[in-house]
Amino acid sequence: MINIYNPVFVNISSFSIADLIIISIFFLSVGSFCSTIIYRLAPNSQFPLFKIRSSCPSCSKKIDAINLIPLLGFVIQSGKCKLCNSNISKFYPFTEIFFLLIGILLITNYGIGLSAIVYTIIIFCFYILFFLDYKYLYLPVYINLLIVLIGITFNAKYQLFIDETFLILDIKPIFFTIYGLFFGYSSLWLINLMFKVIKKKDGIGGGDFILFGGIGSIHGPIALPVILLIGSFLGCLYFIFSKKTTDSELPFGSFLILGSFVYFVLNLMNFSLIN
Ligand SMILES: [Zn+2]
Repeated sequence: MINIYNPVFVNISSFSIADLIIISIFFLSVGSFCSTIIYRLAPNSQFPLFKIRSSCPSCSKKIDAINLIPLLGFVIQSGKCKLCNSNISKFYPFTEIFFLLIGILLITNYGIGLSAIVYTIIIFCFYILFFLDYKYLYLPVYINLLIVLIGITFNAKYQLFIDETFLILDIKPIFFTIYGLFFGYSSLWLINLMFKVIKKKDGIGGGDFILFGGIGSIHGPIALPVILLIGSFLGCLYFIFSKKTTDSELPFGSFLILGSFVYFVLNLMNFSLIN
């Protein structure tokens, strides 16, 4: 059975140079696509999501095909638009390198297979949500729902994220993911309801409920309190160090995503310690 907590460890030297080049181009392109989606989904974006060609946000001129090549395009143009000389956001090369590193980690841990593909899609969705929530407090519902769909499909059919906490519950895999979705969504909904009764306003956004439900559908119900605790702790640290005022809004979704990522890494380390 394929399981995300059961890495197969593939030596990078077992890949040919051609394989490595193709894998690198693939993950750099995933990063490039990801940053484009973030820019186009931003509430202040002037570009529709399904526009074929990219253009410069400053001068609106179409970008040449060669300059659209991930990482290389940024280097060729020395980080500036060729036509209007405005700076190109460093977020593009940052995201491309981020996905290249994630790709190398996934391929060396799992080889090219279901685990690597599914986790790439999950990181892709989480990355978009993390930055949109962090910058605009915006969690697009269809990306949240995509996470729910991935969690339910790959846990019910392949038990991809099912870990030893599942044994405590003694239930079918489909219920591991359904309970995760249910408890994730309803726990934040209830916390918000209590906040609303006391403060007469919403404390947590509706997008956060679905996101936490989605995280629950991936990691199951028992992981949720741990993820909430880690996420809230990181949120508090951010709150203290960013010197925000008490009535400013926190990107809670971003911290839930960080919490789920920390949980995943801890679980993976725990697994390698046991085995
Ligand atoms: Zn320009």
